[in-house]
Amino acid sequence: MHMIKRKTFLPYGRQDIGEQEAVAVDAVLKSDWLTTGPKVVEFETAFAKFVGAKEAIAVNSGTAALQIACQAAGLKKGDMAVTTPFTFVATSNAVAYCGAKPVFADIEPDTYNLSADCARKKLNSHVKAILPVDYAGHPCDILDFMDMAEKKDITVIEDAAHAVGAQIDGKKVGSIAHMTTFSFHPVKQMTTGEGGMVTTNDEELANKLRTLRNHGINKDARSRHGKAGTYEYDMTELSFNYRLTDIQAALGLVQLDRLPEFLRKRASIAKLYESLADELPVKLPATRKNVRHAWHLYPVLIDKPGKRDEVFSSMRAANIGVNVHYIPVYHHTYHKKQNPKLRASDFPVTERVFSGELSLPMFPGMVREDVEYTVQALASSLKVRQ
Ligand SMILES: *Cc1c(COP(=O)(O)O)cnc(C)c1O
Repeated sequence: MHMIKRKTFLPYGRQDIGEQEAVAVDAVLKSDWLTTGPKVVEFETAFAKFVGAKEAIAVNSGTAALQIACQAAGLKKGDMAVTTPFTFVATSNAVAYCGAKPVFADIEPDTYNLSADCARKKLNSHVKAILPVDYAGHPCDILDFMDMAEKKDITVIEDAAHAVGAQIDGKKVGSIAHMTTFSFHPVKQMTTGEGGMVTTNDEELANKLRTLRNHGINKDARSRHGKAGTYEYDMTELSFNYRLTDIQAALGLVQLDRLPEFLRKRASIAKLYESLADELPVKLPATRKNVRHAWHLYPVLIDKPGKRDEVFSSMRAANIGVNVHYIPVYHHTYHKKQNPKLRASDFPVTERVFSGELSLPMFPGMVREDVEYTVQALASSLKVRQ
């Protein structure tokens, strides 16, 4: 088939913002509260309800969510946390911010999520947390990790930056782990520009998280404001300013309302990819029967040594924003320096998946022609006739 080259660049992900969002943000700009105020509370309440968690704590990035979760879990120097190397660097960075050591375990060959069996082998008395990631939006085996932590002094922090709205065994991601973290970066399923959330069913953890997002101060500005307010507050531990603004929360509330629509569109794009790319010599992403996928990414696997980079270049040349998720974290200079004993050969599945992985464009604003063009470009890059 002859291909006509696109004139505009098709990114791998992008936000969908409409007039409704603009109206909501505008109203906050003209109100009394710009930063953490009534809209943040409203956003947290709506988000907790959506995922089925008791508490939700809004912060200004997914990275901040991970950091305060690790801090609330009590991670400190001398501790270890088991996590996946097949993720964005923010996951293991959160462990390192606390002075603790990330310990990587290999991933599953079908979902590319942290393997519970591999994680179990890394447990020892220093391990105080496990951080699985719901890669691409496919939920991890959270109950296996919860079992592993049971009766031990281990906190499970699920990095669900890819998985807002995903479900496992009929339960929403965000309602099961000790703490679950989300990101509202524009490439994710819903956005606040920058932003994040931690959900938990544990009130004590929720109180800690609220303190940690606000310098370690035990009262927020609103409770000290107005007639009945007091000047008193106490800083109980050292932390940073991770507050989300009311401007962002107003945007988030509209995006949360539209999330079901976004998720439906993503699922239909995945379905279209599946039907169009079915015959190509690539491995399409697997979805287990007991999950509802949230389709942050559409990762295909080109299982032929060296071929992925070739396909990547030729698809970029065709104006398609393919990407690679992820360079395994232990490949980064920082981690090599921190732990010279790390060997790529200890992570055979991660290495194999990394060498072949290619993320195709996936966002709700894609039209049928975008998907068709992407699959045609993939087919011709693979030098197969379609
Ligand atoms: C996006 C992302 C984060 C970080 O979120 P930010 O909001 O960009 O700070 C963390 N973990 C994973 C797996 C992500 O994809």
